[in-house]
Amino acid sequence: MLRVLCFVLFSANLAASEVKSEIDKVLYGYTTRAESRAILEKLEQGIPYKNVLDDARVMTFKCWFSDVATPNGLITYKHFLKQASSIIQKSSVQVLKHEFIACKAAQEYIQGHYQAATTLLKPITKNSEHAKSPKELNVIATANIILNRIYLAQGRYEDAFHAAQKAYQLFEKSGNSYEQALALKEIADIHIALFNFDLAIEQLQRAATELTQFNEQEHYKVIDQLAFAYEKSGNRPKAIELYQSIKNDVRSYESDDGYAYVLIKLAELYTEQNQLNAAKSYLTAVDKLKIDSSWITVLLTMTQAQWHLKSNNLNAALTLFNKLQTEQNSWSVSFKERYFNFASLLAEVTNDSSLHIDAQQQLITIIKQKQKDIANNALISARLNFDLEQQKREITRLEQASALQKELLTVAEGKAFWQRLTLIIASVCLILFAIYSFKQARQKKHFEVLALKDELTGIANRRAIINLKRSVMQKNLHNKRVSSLISIDIDHFKAVNDQYGHDIGDELIISIVNSIVSTVRCSDMVGRVGGEEFLIVLENQTLENAKEIAGRIRHSIAEKQHTSLGINSTVSIGVIEITPHENAEQAAKRVDLNLYKAKQNGRNSVVF
Ligand code: GH3
Ligand code: MG
Ligand code: MG
Repeated sequence: MLRVLCFVLFSANLAASEVKSEIDKVLYGYTTRAESRAILEKLEQGIPYKNVLDDARVMTFKCWFSDVATPNGLITYKHFLKQASSIIQKSSVQVLKHEFIACKAAQEYIQGHYQAATTLLKPITKNSEHAKSPKELNVIATANIILNRIYLAQGRYEDAFHAAQKAYQLFEKSGNSYEQALALKEIADIHIALFNFDLAIEQLQRAATELTQFNEQEHYKVIDQLAFAYEKSGNRPKAIELYQSIKNDVRSYESDDGYAYVLIKLAELYTEQNQLNAAKSYLTAVDKLKIDSSWITVLLTMTQAQWHLKSNNLNAALTLFNKLQTEQNSWSVSFKERYFNFASLLAEVTNDSSLHIDAQQQLITIIKQKQKDIANNALISARLNFDLEQQKREITRLEQASALQKELLTVAEGKAFWQRLTLIIASVCLILFAIYSFKQARQKKHFEVLALKDELTGIANRRAIINLKRSVMQKNLHNKRVSSLISIDIDHFKAVNDQYGHDIGDELIISIVNSIVSTVRCSDMVGRVGGEEFLIVLENQTLENAKEIAGRIRHSIAEKQHTSLGINSTVSIGVIEITPHENAEQAAKRVDLNLYKAKQNGRNSVVF
C-alpha cells in the first residue's frame, strides 16, 4: 500500500516538473496533433500544480487548442478564457502572460476581429529588440506571425511580409527551427496572395524539406498548401496529384473537418476539369462526414453548387447559391472572387440580369484591387525575393556556426590543457606538500630526539637524564624498590684542553662516554650533565651493584689510551643508593658530595 502511495506521489511530482518540457515538445514540433492533445489531457489532470506557474503554463497551452471557428467551440472558449485569465494573473511571469495574450489575439484573428487582435499584440511586439531568452523571442515571433496573417487578410502585403520575415528571424534567433520552417509557409501565403505562385512553390518545397525532421503531420500540411499553390498557378493535375497523395495521412491525423477539406478540394478540381463523376464520388464521401466548421460547410456548399451547375442541375445550384448569400462578410478575397464568378455564370444561365450586373460590379472591384496588387507586386517582388537572400544568409549562418564550433573546440582544447596543467600543478604541489610534511615530521622527531640527546656524544643530555632520574624515583616509590646513582667527572680535564686543544678534549669526552656505555647494561641510563660530568641512573639496582659498576667504569677508563693521541685519563666517581624519602635534588646533592669526596681523595677513585 505504501509503495503504491509512494509511486503515486512520485509520479505526481514527476508530472509537475515535466509541464514545461512536455509543452515544449509540442511547441518545438515533435508531436503530432493527437499526441499534443494527449499531452494536454495529461497535463490538465495535474491541475492544480504545486507551482501556480505550471497551472498558467497548461492554461496557455490549452488556449491554442481552442476551436473558435465552430459555435460550440466558441462558447467553450469564452468559458475557458474566464477561468484561464484568473490563473494567468496569479503567475508573475511576463513572458507567459504575453504567450496567453498572443493566443487570445490568434483566436480574435480567426473570428475576423482584426482590430482587437492587433491591439492585443501591440505590447508584445513593442520592445522586441530587448528580448533575449528563447521564450521571449518565440512569443514575439508568434505575435509577428499573427500580425502577418492579419495584414495579409487586410491586403497589406508589405506589412505582412515584414512581419513574417521578422518572425522567421526571431524563430531562427530563438533556435526554434520548427516554427522557423513554418514561417516559410507564411511567406509562401503572401506570394500566393500576390500571384507569385512560382515563388510560393519554391518556399513551400523548402519548408517541406526542412520540416521532415519534425512530426510526421507537418509533411501533409505543407503539401496541402503546395497543392493549393499549383492549383492557383493553373496546374490542376499537379494539385490533384498532391491532394491525392496526402488524403490518407489527413484521414488518420485530422478531424472530419480536415479530411472533408481535402475531399472538397479534390471535388472542386475534378469539377473544374469536367471530371464530374470523380468529383461526385468525393462529394458523396464528404456527406458521410460530420462537419463542425462553418467555413468548411461554406466551401462544401460552394463546390456542390458548382458541380450542380456543371451537371445542369440549375435548381439545385440556385438553392445552394441562395444558402451562401448570407455569410459573405468573413470570406477571403479569393473565395469572394470564386463566388462572384459563379454568381455571374449562374446569372447568365438563369438570365438573371440584376444578379449578373451585381456580380460583374463586384468582380470589377476585386479585379481592380487585384491589378493594383499585381502592380504593387512588381515593386514588392524584388523585396520579396526572400529566397535567394535568405539562402545566402543561411549559408553564412552555417559557415559561422561551423566556425564557431571550431572556435569552441579550440577553446575546449585550451580549457583541457589548462585543466591538465592545473591538475599537474596541483599534483606536484600535493607531492611537494607531502614531502615537506614528511620532512617536517622527520625533523620534528629529529628535534624531539635532539632535545633529549647530547649533541657531542649521542647519549641523554642533562634535561633528559634528570627527567629519567625523577621518573625512576617516582616508580620506585610505588614499587617499593631502590635505584642507584653514579656521578662521574673527568679528572684534570682543563689541562687536556689546554695541552692538546679543544678538539682533543672533545675526543676524550667521546672516548670516555664509550667506555662508560660499554661497561653498563642497556637498561642503565647514561647522561651528560655538564662539560665533562656524567650521571648514570641504575634502575632497581642496589648500592652494592652500583659500587661494582662504578669500579669497573673507573678501571676501564684508567686502563685505556684515549683519543687519536692515545692519551691517558682518569675519572672520579660518586655513588649513592636513592632513599625513598629524598627528592631528586637531595639525591643529586648527595651523589655530588661523594664525587667531591672522590676528588678530595686524590681523584681516579670511587666514593659511596
Ligand atoms: P677537576 O679534576 O677538578 O675536575 O679538574 P678539571 O679541569 O676537570 O675541572 P674544571 O671544572 O676546572 O674544568 C672543566 C673544563 O672542561 C672547563 C671547560 O673548559 C672544559 N669543558 C667543558 N665542556 C667542554 C666540552 O664540551 N669540550 C671541551 N673540550 N672542553 C669542555
Ligand atoms: Mg668538572
Ligand atoms: Mg673535571
